[in-house]
Amino acid sequence: MTTPIQVVQWGLGAMGSGMARLLRQKDGIEIVAAFDRDANKIGQDLGAFLGGEKNGVLIQAPPLTEADGPEAGRPAGKWPQRADLVLLATSSFTREVAPQIKEALRQGLNVISIAEEMAYPYAREEGLAREIDQEAGSRGVSVLGTGINPGFVLDTLVLALTGPCLEVKKIKATRINDLSPFGPTVMRTQGVGTTVDEFAAGLASGAIVGHVGFRESIHLIAKALGWRLERIEEQRSPIVAKVRRETPYVKVEPGQVAGCRHTAVGYVGGEAKIELIHPQQVLPQVEGAETGDYIEISGKPSLNLMIKPEIPGGLGTMAMAVNMIPQVLAARPGLLSMAELPLPSALLGDVREILKWRKGE
Ligand code: NAD
Repeated sequence: MTTPIQVVQWGLGAMGSGMARLLRQKDGIEIVAAFDRDANKIGQDLGAFLGGEKNGVLIQAPPLTEADGPEAGRPAGKWPQRADLVLLATSSFTREVAPQIKEALRQGLNVISIAEEMAYPYAREEGLAREIDQEAGSRGVSVLGTGINPGFVLDTLVLALTGPCLEVKKIKATRINDLSPFGPTVMRTQGVGTTVDEFAAGLASGAIVGHVGFRESIHLIAKALGWRLERIEEQRSPIVAKVRRETPYVKVEPGQVAGCRHTAVGYVGGEAKIELIHPQQVLPQVEGAETGDYIEISGKPSLNLMIKPEIPGGLGTMAMAVNMIPQVLAARPGLLSMAELPLPSALLGDVREILKWRKGE
């Protein structure tokens, strides 16, 4: 058998650790290096860190990137002698992950990032997106941004559902989810546990942002359908708790904010054509709201898809990043989006065999 597909895991937080655990269960694929900037993780054996057997791969500080500047005095991790692809799970923003992606590309490696903005980085960071595309193209490798959302529920799944449509007049998609598995960073950016006044102040200062990814999903849908997007309007409002809600990370008293109701509408030809609704809160079920993913296509034919309860966000993100590996390794070089690659599917057999089939070998 040929050598396993070799992966570098960059970022070992909630998502990156889960992605690494998932990789370890797959045949025909192995982790050859792992980077994280957290001093508590650096130096640990990766296998033991993930709660399993030692595997001899030590977690290292991240390699130097252009973000470090010429005088960087920090300890820097070393790239492995050989690898195929980097799974990147460090941040949400293109500006922050671009130096990491470019460094991986300079090593000749393909990249899958779960940064929300990387789902379609042209939406906010056109210059950086072009630089990444050029670098990847010149190295003959590919870069993909994916995840559960953006990456699947409110874009890839929506687009797949338009496949059997002769006409599409309007798209409305809603994801009602439970934020309770997520930690303090997400609680802060969604404003969970704040008063209504603090929520308003947080929105004004930019400390509370709601969902990152609407612009990316709407651009992706419009681009793939051939709709000329004119503008996107977003609205954020607090979801106020009527009863006490408590998770391991946050306590919300009645009258406080349990989450952010965030909506975005994309306009085409003066009409609201793409409406995405994503109220995110902790424990919606305690007030009778059920989680779920809902897609309504108005067109010919009109179609309705309902998934209840929601597709779990954490597990879904880990799976999407890992399951897209063969598609990315078989793709044309450059910066790609979920709309440009074959649809995702689970990896249940030897990943080398699946890759050979995808490459037509
Ligand atoms: P997390 O905070 O638990 O983990 C981030 C990890 O990356 C930490 O271990 C941190 O030390 C490390 N890190 C940060 N910057 C680094 C750098 N420059 N070099 C090396 N390590 C670095 O976050 P998470 O829950 O694992 O999520 C990671 C990112 O993915 C977040 O920004 C999150 O919003 C995003 N995300 C996207 C989706 C999606 O659907 N697209 C889904 C879930 C999470």
